[in-house]
Parts: sequence; structure tokens; C-alpha cells
Amino acid sequence: MDKPFLDKLRKIDPYVPGEQPQAADIIKLNANENPYPPAPRVQEVLRRFDAAQLALYPDANGKALKAALAGRFGVKPAQVFLGNGSDDVLALAFQAFFCSDRPVLYPDITYSFYPVWCDLFRIPYETVPLDGDFRVCVRDYDRPNGGVILPNPNAPTGRGVTLDFLEELLQHNQDCVVIIDEAYVDFGAQSAVPLLGKYENLLVVQTMSKSRSLAGLRVGYALGSEVLISTLEAVKNSYNSYTMDALALAAGQASVEDERYFQETCRRVAETRDRSAAALRGLGFTVLPSLTNFLFVTHPKKEAPVIFEYLRQKNIYIRYFRLPRIENYLRITIGTDEQMDRLLDALQAFL
Ligand code: PMP
Repeated sequence: MDKPFLDKLRKIDPYVPGEQPQAADIIKLNANENPYPPAPRVQEVLRRFDAAQLALYPDANGKALKAALAGRFGVKPAQVFLGNGSDDVLALAFQAFFCSDRPVLYPDITYSFYPVWCDLFRIPYETVPLDGDFRVCVRDYDRPNGGVILPNPNAPTGRGVTLDFLEELLQHNQDCVVIIDEAYVDFGAQSAVPLLGKYENLLVVQTMSKSRSLAGLRVGYALGSEVLISTLEAVKNSYNSYTMDALALAAGQASVEDERYFQETCRRVAETRDRSAAALRGLGFTVLPSLTNFLFVTHPKKEAPVIFEYLRQKNIYIRYFRLPRIENYLRITIGTDEQMDRLLDALQAFL
């Protein structure tokens, strides 16, 4: 049957998120989620939430959550933008700031959503190769461009850059917007937030999905100069005024108000990470230094997809990207100590 309308549909290769298997007794180390529950204060706010409130629209400006985040980071509320997860913030930032004919720059190995947004929003881009050790070279970003986006630490490599590196990057890129995607920064890397006072073209994007155990709630945010934030607000309000629902606003605020629990959870994950990295090295893996809640590993004797499939049969889910340069690497999210022990035992029996 002839269906001429099919020619008019948008053709796009979407981002493919990590599997969300539903079976009981699985060990899920494939989506960089936090193995610990959200802060007790978040649980309390959700328990007490009055469903009658849902009859009304939420606060489109998210005033209370913005005030809490502004307080935590020492910026003005007008320097905070909220989104439905940091994917939402990043997608809006791509539309708001990457409007030049020149290419946006980001590493060849990085968060695989960036090329998808570039294609969706028809933004020209060029990837910049990481070096042989998967390090970002700051000099490579010293050329005409329409913007820069860099995750710090990078994903899926786990490697971080220093504040000096970030300052040098900004020094050489003052005529475009530089976005630092800090999805994993809380597990030990240096944040670019201290540079906000100095660089009006810097946007720092963070999320509550990883370090605050709230991936299912969808809360992301950006910190930047008032001019960048008001531009983001204008783009958001040209598309959907209510990206943040009332539950996300309330529970997100409760999370920010529980700094002790947040710090303690990050510390536990980092400790388990370092112990697991040592144990994996003991099993012959090469493990990249990680400042995140995941490890990026390769084994000299067993191919990555073979290890991936073996673990899957054992109900242990990790992440494999069939992509150039990293086709023999695996990304393993840090779980609880017990989950990591089960992973290590399974690997020991296999290798
Ligand atoms: N940036 C990076 C580098 C990520 O790995 C992720 C998680 N997939 C995100 C942003 C988005 O996370 P979220 O939308 O849950 O905030």
C-alpha cells in the first residue's frame, strides 16, 4: 500500500538508555543509578505529600527548590535553572546556546546523547579525539567553534579534569557557551561552580539522579550567569512551562536540605568503587581511574561482549557500548558492597 506520508516523518537514530530489567533478584549495574535509597527526609516528604495538591499546576518557576539550590551553591536564585532530569536541561541548553554555524565541540568518546541532540536540533558538531589513555587534551578545544560541552568526569571513561584545566578551557573559549556536564561530579571530581563568578559564558549542569538516588524522580538543574539562565527559561517557556511536577519539586528540595546523608552516601559509593577497582585489577582487568560511580574496564584475555553476556546469564547487568575505540570495554556501575562481591565472585569463577 502506498503511504506517501511516511516520507514526511522525521528520521532519527535515538539515544538508547540502559536496560531496565524487571525480574527479581537481578543485580543492576548498568545505568549508573545509586544503590542506596534517597535521603530519609525525601521519603518523609513523599509520605506526607497531600495528593489534593496535584489538582493544581506546580510552581512553574520552582521557587523553593531554586532557593535551596542557590543556598547550597552560594549563587542567586536567578542563577539556577530546573529541568526534568539533566537530560531535559541539556536538551534545552543545546537549543538555547548552540545556535552558531560553527561546530560544537565535544570528545569522541563521551555521553552518547550529545550527537542525538545535535542531530535532532540540526546543530553542526565535531568530535575531538581523547588521547590514547582516554584523557581530554585542553589545547584541542583552542579553535573556532560554536560551543563546547564536556562532561566532568567524562562518561563512560570515568576520568575527571582539574579546576585548572577547566579554567584554561574557559580562558580559550570566551566567545561561546561552555557547558560542563557534572552528572557524576559528587563522587570525587572538582566542580566548575567556583568559576561561575568569573565566566558569564559557563553553564554547569548537575543532576539528582546519581549522587542523590533520585533517578526515578527526574530532577536536574543548571547553574550559570543570569543571562544564560534567563535564556534557558525563555526556551523552556517556549516549549513547556511545567517541566517540573509538584512531587519532584518537593522531594528535590528535601534532598538538598539533607546534606549529611548526601555526603555520607557519596563517600560510601566512592569507598566501594576504590575497593572494587583494586579487586578487578587483581582479576587481571585494566581499570581506568574513576571519579564517578562507575568503572570502565577491559580484560586482556576475555572479550568484553563475552564477559557482558556471561554476567547477563547470571542476572548481573552491566553496560557494553559497541562503539569504535571502546568495543572491548565494559562499564560497571558501583552497587552495594554485597552486589559488588557477587559480581567479583562471578567474574572470578569465569576468568
Ligand atoms: N549526563 C551524563 C554524562 C549522563 O551519563 C547522564 C545519565 N544518563 C545524564 C547527563 C542524564 O541524567 P539525568 O537525565 O537522569 O539527570
